[in-house]
Amino acid sequence: MANTRFAWEDNIRKVVPYTPGEQPKKNNIIKLNTNENPYPPAPGVVDVIKNFDCDSLRKYPDPTVGNLVHAIAEVYDVKDEEVFVGVGSDDVLAMAFMTCFNSDKPILFPDITYSFYDVWAELLRIPYETQALDENFHIIPEDYMKENGGVIFPNPNAPTGVLMSLENIEKIIAANRDVVVIVDEAYIDFGGESARGLINKYDNLLVVQTFSKSRSMAGMRIGFILGNEKIIKYINDVKYSFNSYTMNRVAIESGVASVTDTGYFNECVNKVIKTREWTKERLKERGFIFEDSKSNFIFAKSDKISGEKLFEELKKRDIYVRHFSKPERINDYLRISIGTDAEMKKFVETLDCILENN
Ligand code: PMP
Repeated sequence: MANTRFAWEDNIRKVVPYTPGEQPKKNNIIKLNTNENPYPPAPGVVDVIKNFDCDSLRKYPDPTVGNLVHAIAEVYDVKDEEVFVGVGSDDVLAMAFMTCFNSDKPILFPDITYSFYDVWAELLRIPYETQALDENFHIIPEDYMKENGGVIFPNPNAPTGVLMSLENIEKIIAANRDVVVIVDEAYIDFGGESARGLINKYDNLLVVQTFSKSRSMAGMRIGFILGNEKIIKYINDVKYSFNSYTMNRVAIESGVASVTDTGYFNECVNKVIKTREWTKERLKERGFIFEDSKSNFIFAKSDKISGEKLFEELKKRDIYVRHFSKPERINDYLRISIGTDAEMKKFVETLDCILENN
């Protein structure tokens, strides 16, 4: 069957899909491979789900996602018209690509970055050009100051965890007033300074965030964009031309409960940061090499064992981390998400055991 070639295949849109991190079916593993938060969502989210009025599911949800848009606008001190909400940041990023990257000139993003960007560009037939990170995995701002059809990068970058200063981000936005610049802040809450304060100064800026990491809601799928109301309107026009009801009722209600609980949010984020700093020290003691990370993961390589081998040895012992075989420059690195203190302690003990026997 796989080798049969059908006549209609020439007319198919063929794409090489993004490969998400593994979601093993096994219980009792230590899962440090997809940058999930090890702590539960806010207590209010649990209440919403426990008490949810299931009869309401007969009816379509609010296509404008009004309650959640409003709650996000209040928390981040912007107007409702400056917020777009979607099914995780993957969804809002895809909508932003479709809406904003509509030029014959190439969009620019780093060569080592979130590996969905080139997938969307290929899918949507957007020309793109990648810009190499410097030898320490830092973005070189000047590389984004040439003629282009748009700019996107994560801050902190993924999978490196490296943060760019707000000053450099502003330079990139200011040098690109004729295109849209998207700053993907999936990991910003773990120690970076958000660019969202710049949306009133720069009408060409979109800041994208997610509930998946700092708000422990990867399974609920909520992401949002903050930006000038004119671009948000354009993005909504595309959304309503594609699928009006992207956010389900449970997601809308539980999203409100999550975003309004600032105390719980700060508590969880601070716990992750503390554990990350502890883990950095333990990795340094063991000769690991890494750039400083301001995210909820560390991108590190051992001076004693290859990335692939260490990945396999950890997996054998039920510890899952992420290994990227391409590009070659990063194939000795592992991206290690930050778990609970107990999980990271077990991870370090397991590392010692592996390093002793190799
Ligand atoms: N941006 C970056 C940089 C990411 O690493 C991820 C997580 N895979 C996302 C966006 C998407 O996250 P989500 O769709 O869960 O919000």
